[in-house]
Amino acid sequence: MDIKTRLETFQKALEHTQARLIPVSKTHPIEALQEAYSAGCRVFAENRVQELVPKYEALPKDIEWHLIGTLQTNKVKYIAPFVSLIHSIDSFKLLEVVHKEAIKCGRVIDCLLQIYIAQEETKHGFSYQEAEELLASPALPALTGVRIVGVMGMATFTTDTAQIRQEFRGLADFVKRVANPQIKEISMGMSQDYTIAIEEGSTMIRVGSAIFGSRS
Ligand SMILES: *Cc1c(COP(=O)(O)O)cnc(C)c1O
Repeated sequence: MDIKTRLETFQKALEHTQARLIPVSKTHPIEALQEAYSAGCRVFAENRVQELVPKYEALPKDIEWHLIGTLQTNKVKYIAPFVSLIHSIDSFKLLEVVHKEAIKCGRVIDCLLQIYIAQEETKHGFSYQEAEELLASPALPALTGVRIVGVMGMATFTTDTAQIRQEFRGLADFVKRVANPQIKEISMGMSQDYTIAIEEGSTMIRVGSAIFGSRS
C-alpha cells in the first residue's frame, strides 16, 4: 500500500469517530510528506525541532505543524512563528518560554500538557496531580501567549491491551475531572494502539509507521 491509500484507509476508519488523524512524519524524507500532501494531507507531526523547521520551509504554507517530542526551551524560538500545536509541554518553565516567544510573534500557541501515563521509565511528563496543580496555578492566566487545549499521553509499550486501555482511560477520566471546556483535546494512540485509544475517547491519534512505513 502507498501513503495515499493508507491515509484514505485511516480517514475512512475515523469517519464516525471523534478522533482526528495526525500523521507523524518524523525521520521520513520531504518526498514522503509531499506524497501525503498531494493526497490531501494538511497536518504533520514531528518530534524534533531540527527536523520540523526544514520541512516547514520546504513544504507549502497551508500545513498545520505539530510538535510531539521533547522540546528544549532554547529551541522554542525556531518554531514559535508557525507551530500549530505543541503536544509535549512537560514543565511550567517550558510553558513560560512558549508564552514569551509567542508574544514576540504576536501569536497565541495552542499547547497540550504531556501526562505520564505509562509504567515505563523512558516516558515522561506531568503526573495527574502536577497537571491539576498547573491548571489551578495563579500564575497561569498571565501566560497569554499560550492556550492549554488538552492533554497528551503515551501508553506503555506492551502487548497487554488491558493495561493500555486502563492508561488511556485514566487520561480521558482526567479530562472529565478537570471539567474545563477549553481542555478537550486528548492526544493518545499511535500505530500500535490507536484503536484502543479511539474507543477510550482520543480526539487525536498520532500515527507514524502505519502511514509512512517503518523508520530505519
Ligand atoms: C513517533 C511517535 C509517534 C508515532 O509512532 P508510530 O508508532 O510510528 O505510530 C506518536 N507519538 C509520539 C510522541 C512519537 O514520538
